[in-house]
Amino acid sequence: MPRSPSVAIVGGGASGALAAIHLLRHARARATPMEVILIDRDGRHALGQAYSTTDPHHLLNTTADKMSALDGDHGHLVRWARDHGLEVDGSDYLPRPLYGRYLREVLAAAERPPAQVLRRVTGTVTALDHRHGVSVRLGDGRRVDADAIVLALGNRPPAALPRVVAGAGSRYVADPWRTDALTRICDGAPVLVLGTGLTMVDVAVTVSRTHPDAVVYALSRHALLPRPHPHPLPLPVPTPIPPGPLKVADLLRAVRLAVRSRGGDWHGVVDGLRPQAQALWARLTPDERRRFLRLVARYWEVHRHRIPPATAARVADLRASGRLRVLRGSLVQAATVAPDRLRLGVEVEGVARELDVGWLVNATGPGSRTVDDPLLSGLVAAGTARPDAVRLGLDVDPRGALLDADGHPNARIFALGPLLRGSLYETTAVPEIRAQAAALAPRLVEAATSPVLVSRPSP
Ligand SMILES: Cc1cc2nc3c(=O)[nH]c(=O)nc-3n(C[C@H](O)[C@H](O)[C@H](O)COP(=O)(O)OP(=O)(O)OC[C@H]3O[C@@H](n4cnc5c(N)ncnc54)[C@H](O)[C@@H]3O)c2cc1C
Repeated sequence: MPRSPSVAIVGGGASGALAAIHLLRHARARATPMEVILIDRDGRHALGQAYSTTDPHHLLNTTADKMSALDGDHGHLVRWARDHGLEVDGSDYLPRPLYGRYLREVLAAAERPPAQVLRRVTGTVTALDHRHGVSVRLGDGRRVDADAIVLALGNRPPAALPRVVAGAGSRYVADPWRTDALTRICDGAPVLVLGTGLTMVDVAVTVSRTHPDAVVYALSRHALLPRPHPHPLPLPVPTPIPPGPLKVADLLRAVRLAVRSRGGDWHGVVDGLRPQAQALWARLTPDERRRFLRLVARYWEVHRHRIPPATAARVADLRASGRLRVLRGSLVQAATVAPDRLRLGVEVEGVARELDVGWLVNATGPGSRTVDDPLLSGLVAAGTARPDAVRLGLDVDPRGALLDADGHPNARIFALGPLLRGSLYETTAVPEIRAQAAALAPRLVEAATSPVLVSRPSP
């Protein structure tokens, strides 16, 4: 019996799951047989980094009406929650573990065996082969053949800090999103979190819930905390951006004008800019993109990635009671002074201090070094892929096809999600990823059903 066309998706987090959901549904609508192989290193299929948390106090930072898994059916999540007996409104911020359950269920429901089949594989993909058809190689020696491949690898882990954390040993948490990383640090000892963004907020929420007296220090160069969502959310405000070649200075000027015309209220302006963000990013030259990253990105991030009012209230309460202490400065060195104690040399507001803590957590946000990832660096070294112009990930064409070293699009290898940060900038949240997954589905069916010109080698 001839085998079904097949697509291997490398990375089984929300991006991989959304790609699989849209592909299976599209194939079903076209009555096309399709096998989707969803490969995840951690076995966290449909959950990934963001939705594998088990802490119900970790809330989505986006309202339920924006978090549907299905492009074109924005009420789907709210209906699903109500069908499960939950009283949910579109303006609610749902727990992230619940959202993970939702993604898993929608993924399972997208299958229609025997025609549209999903195979979940746990393993690390170390290389792709696309000389004869396409196949992925796993670290344990397995090989998966397919007709097309999607890279959905997610964010790179936080940048390594080998010099300053060398003395922290096993009490240093290099990647707080690894399975059980947060459970490990909840022993009541003080924690120093490097970074003051959304991940720090998650750490503070979890640590203080399990040990109400534990102190969390949050340290960053600018000590900028995520802003809260106002309630009710203001409507997005359209901000006119002049046509033609764009500079970061033009953008800032237009935004300042728009905020001023709103009497200083920036919320609607930021929300109005977000749907335009990819188009605006495309109009910046690589130099202007780098300027944005250097001077503006951190301010955009704290205004754009806001926390729900309940989380903001919790953060305010923790700060008021001294259980969360936000410090502006940097870590100078770390030393282990007892099996369960670290002494940290920090510089706070220009003054050297020492802090004794039990744990040091790297929450500095996603790294961007593709060279640290064997799969990505192998693809770049082989000329199959090339870094984007600002080196935040891989370069793709407007259809999501991987561009090779010479800028030619690959007919069978595609990418979506955070890996496209340098190409699209706003590509890390569900609404953007969902749209990419929907646009990719017909291209994947086309790629997977078109004949391979060179015959496959026998296994
Ligand atoms: C804490 C947090 C909260 C968020 N909250 C929201 C929100 O409220 N609303 C919103 O819209 N967005 C939110 N986001 C953003 C967005 O939903 C996530 O960034 C999204 O989950 C990205 O999913 P992903 O699959 O691309 O990446 P990941 O979740 O990182 O998944 C990638 C997967 O690929 C696997 N992988 C990587 N390399 C390989 C390999 N070589 N072989 C096999 N597997 C591999 C990894 O193990 C991982 O499981 C949040 C993000 C985070 C981190």
